[in-house]
Amino acid sequence: MGVILNAQTNSDIEAKVNELINKMTLKEKIGQMTQINLTVIANGPNKWTSFEPLLLDTNKARKAILEYKVGSVLNTTNGEARSNKKWNEIIEGIQQIALKESRLGIPVIYGIDGIHGATYTSNSTMFPQQITTAASWNTENAYNMAKVASYEIRSCGIPWNFSPVLDLGQDPRFPRQFETFGEDPYLVTQMGNQMIKGYQGDNNDVSNSNNVAVTLKHFLGYQTTISGKDRTPSFIPEHTLRELHLPAFKSAIDMGAKSIMINSGIINGIPTHADKYILTDILRKELNFKGVVLTDWEDINKLYDRDKIASSKKEAVKIAIDAGIDMSMVPYEYEEFCDNLYELVSEGSVPVSRINESVKRILTLKYELDLFNNPSSDYKTYTNFNSEKSEKLSYDSAAEAITLLKNKNSLLPLKKGIKILVSGPNSNSMRTLNGAWTYSWQGEKADKFAEKYNTIYEAISEDFGKNNVTYIPGVSYLVNEENDNATKYEYYDQHEDNMLEAIEEAKESDVVILCIGENSYTEKPGDLNDLNLNSLQKKLVKELSKTSTPIILVINSGRPRIISDIVNLADGIINIYLPGNHGGDALSDVLTGEVNPSGKLPYSYPAFVNSLVPYNFKPSDVQNNNQGAYNYEGKVQNLFEFGFGLSYTSFEYGDIVINKNDFTQNENIEISIKIKNSGTKIGKETVQLYSKDLYASITPDIKRLRRFKKVEILPNESKIVKFKLPISELSFINQFNKRVVEPGKFEIMILNKIKTIEVR
Ligand code: BGC
Repeated sequence: MGVILNAQTNSDIEAKVNELINKMTLKEKIGQMTQINLTVIANGPNKWTSFEPLLLDTNKARKAILEYKVGSVLNTTNGEARSNKKWNEIIEGIQQIALKESRLGIPVIYGIDGIHGATYTSNSTMFPQQITTAASWNTENAYNMAKVASYEIRSCGIPWNFSPVLDLGQDPRFPRQFETFGEDPYLVTQMGNQMIKGYQGDNNDVSNSNNVAVTLKHFLGYQTTISGKDRTPSFIPEHTLRELHLPAFKSAIDMGAKSIMINSGIINGIPTHADKYILTDILRKELNFKGVVLTDWEDINKLYDRDKIASSKKEAVKIAIDAGIDMSMVPYEYEEFCDNLYELVSEGSVPVSRINESVKRILTLKYELDLFNNPSSDYKTYTNFNSEKSEKLSYDSAAEAITLLKNKNSLLPLKKGIKILVSGPNSNSMRTLNGAWTYSWQGEKADKFAEKYNTIYEAISEDFGKNNVTYIPGVSYLVNEENDNATKYEYYDQHEDNMLEAIEEAKESDVVILCIGENSYTEKPGDLNDLNLNSLQKKLVKELSKTSTPIILVINSGRPRIISDIVNLADGIINIYLPGNHGGDALSDVLTGEVNPSGKLPYSYPAFVNSLVPYNFKPSDVQNNNQGAYNYEGKVQNLFEFGFGLSYTSFEYGDIVINKNDFTQNENIEISIKIKNSGTKIGKETVQLYSKDLYASITPDIKRLRRFKKVEILPNESKIVKFKLPISELSFINQFNKRVVEPGKFEIMILNKIKTIEVR
């Protein structure tokens, strides 16, 4: 992390921070550790909502910034996207008070969730969600998303982004799986690294006003709960935490990530916000993280009012600060947080030295971002905001991610001139293409803000001709006009919408494009009691299939919903995940054949609700007595495997070639394989290298992804793909929580090609 910033070196910054902190009172220090929601200082009836149009309430802002010395603000108000011009006005208003009217002139650091583009900025460029990006298996797409998002977020005057999500998305029930790069730790790490580069720039120069400081989320072990529901208990042994969940964070920290947000959940009975072992011993001492540790939403209070490990809010503050928190996303009752922490320090329950550590980290970030000189931005100078080039990058990412799962009798691509029925609740919605965190938290405002883009239906009618394409939803999501935010109900309430008419139309059509899936959601509103696809949608598929017109199922959802009982009714299946604003166009280009699909699943697509196991399961997950009299269901059963995806062309794999068979611990395995495009279309193939440890002291994973490479190959052309894999990467975390390579046999696998090697 020894990074040279513009004119300021690390030691320059350290000197400035020391000079400043020496002048600060305890109250000023505590204020720096406090983050409030924008609604708290906006013109409005209370702390939770603001009036429209959004305006800063300078009295409230002065109380927070001057009286309580608050050093950070987050979020938008009323869950609404604002123009970058409006953002400039708000940020300037805040900085004016902080810089000009406060005793020490310390700028406020503004943070926001721009997780697949500048979420809360109108007209911003929305990329596919992370899960979709992962399905492209091309890390450039992750880089591009971050690069464009940082530029557009900075145009608002906002220098700090709460992204990327480096959680492992191994549970399809969890309402935030779409925010992850999927279920494999290596894929998550590679994608995450490129996000850091895209956001913070090549040299982590966040003083550059095109870059933002990142926040890694959500440290550590979020998204692996027992119930599959958000912020509920997890039980994760330490060796598993280290083996699966830690690597992506470690790598991002080594790359220079500036801040990190803490898991809002509870691991092994301990809320992570209270877990000194994770927050201090692992994060600070072991990973040597020097940046800012931020809580998640209201999570210090939750130690008291949700988790009951503190008997008062004040005790909760003491526990969290002692565990290692630098800044509290309070975000409403900030007076209480500041007063409690002030009392704790005054009484001697929290040492001033502990406060100084946190404040130094926060001030360092403010200097690194050059906020003292550049506290805001002028949107007019960001002339590439939402440029054609940025939009094209978003389209490319969506096009490369779309995953063809079934193509019976090569039904796809479709010929022009045929008669098409577009049906299903996801056919004509920008909201469902984008998912949550799109111009609003739950994504319910996407249709209003993304009107200029094509829905699936619009894109298909443009490409295949308006006269050839009919749209009848058959099933629709219930929209609650009165309360946009009532996503909880909207999300699962679905109703029949001209189903009979759709059936009649299907009879007259050559093909049905049936767009199924989910409406947008995230966090608690997306919690789920049944992973099955909604029964009305299944009914629609079943009814339409009776017409014997071929059906192409388009899956548009944040997580894989179970479709086993309708899968055979479809001739084609295309998973588009949450592809963003250009998802409709990209899908249509796959249907016409202009794009040859090359996405591969970044998760296992489950077949049954009681068989939810990621691809790296254990040998004991397969105990099926096929030889005997019994037919156990003791076997992992997926509908489609992790890493699977078809193409309009075909690829032939040669044998794996390895430099030798016997290795010592410090050597590298050099692997190569020949891939031939044996079909008639140019296509991209992702070559995936797995290893399997045959015997180990902890029951080994059945296989693990170690490398991947996406290559484009012309018809009849062959390419040789090479990988270099250090033996050290065959290691695992043993029962003593140590990383080891145990001598013995390993298999090296690419698709169905296998070579065995021996490590001594
Ligand atoms: C989410 C975080 C997000 C934060 C701020 C929380 O509820 O868990 O991912 O960054 O809100 O909006």
